[in-house]
Amino acid sequence: MAITQTAISYYGLNYVEHAEQDFREMLNHGCTTVILAITEFDMDFWFPNIPKIVDKAHELGLRVLLDTWGVGKYFGGEQVSLFLQNNTENRQVGAISGEKLPHACFNTQSFRDYFQRLCLKLARETKTDGFFWDEPHYAFPKSYASITGSASDEWACRCPVCMKKFRDYYGYEMPRIMNDDVKQFRWREALFILEDTSRKIKEINPKSEITCCVHATLNSYYVTEYRGYDNWDMVAASPYFDVFSTTIIAWELPEGFFEHITRRTVDMARKYGKQSERWLMGYYKQPADFAQIDKVVDLYDKLGVDRLGTWTYRGGYGTVLAAPDALKLWDRIGENYKRALKKTRS
Ligand SMILES: [Zn+2]
Repeated sequence: MAITQTAISYYGLNYVEHAEQDFREMLNHGCTTVILAITEFDMDFWFPNIPKIVDKAHELGLRVLLDTWGVGKYFGGEQVSLFLQNNTENRQVGAISGEKLPHACFNTQSFRDYFQRLCLKLARETKTDGFFWDEPHYAFPKSYASITGSASDEWACRCPVCMKKFRDYYGYEMPRIMNDDVKQFRWREALFILEDTSRKIKEINPKSEITCCVHATLNSYYVTEYRGYDNWDMVAASPYFDVFSTTIIAWELPEGFFEHITRRTVDMARKYGKQSERWLMGYYKQPADFAQIDKVVDLYDKLGVDRLGTWTYRGGYGTVLAAPDALKLWDRIGENYKRALKKTRS
């Protein structure tokens, strides 16, 4: 096993000729794949250019995956959500506070239809090689997970739709305090929207490849984030996903953490016959010593990772999440991409 794919995310899908220049730069940085971050605004406003941008990437020799970036604020991403703007209902609700939250409830038919329509339009009208499910999650809990227990017992979603589904299945009212039935319910429902959509994408194009990228959490006896996709066995076992991916780890975390997450990611992917993917943080923050990038890439390679991904093009240059030395960071990642691929080919 060796690293065969090096991906970079890219946003700002406006002009084909501008994207072309950027795609050439990606190729010069050893990228084999571009992950296009598609926003709800792109779908609503810039759609005519999206299929052309996909074609241009292909023409230059890049594979293309489409990332439903921040859609409904259900996926990770900084973009704003048209769904939330245009719908005052179908939002996740805090179980204890009872407050409507700025996240779409992906267990409602309204959001499921909206999301699926968006994906199937992309599947039909572009020649994408696949889709990238980017950090899907329930609103809560997250940072509350800690070794010493929860700072809060709040969780989502306890909206009317989730409550009815829960009662229909378990025969009692959905509790406000999370129990095992709620955990199971959340995992099962969270998987439905992605599996159903992935299945329909593959009906349109059987070769379409699906990556499910979940948070890189410990999921130990003491620490679990309960974001809905933290049961890695359930995610990796899904027959509709081809690649099991876990997200970025901040550079300042200890090497042991990188190793632990990566080992478990690779084991989980192999257990279910999937490809494994690990990420590099190529925006916002950079390692104190750039040699750490080389070491982490070597570690991923040694542990048998199949694919590398980096967020994002040019180290986030020009955005509020740019790394301090964004372009240098991008260059170092590019050098590592070329090095990793060369190793594989030699
Ligand atoms: Zn709900």
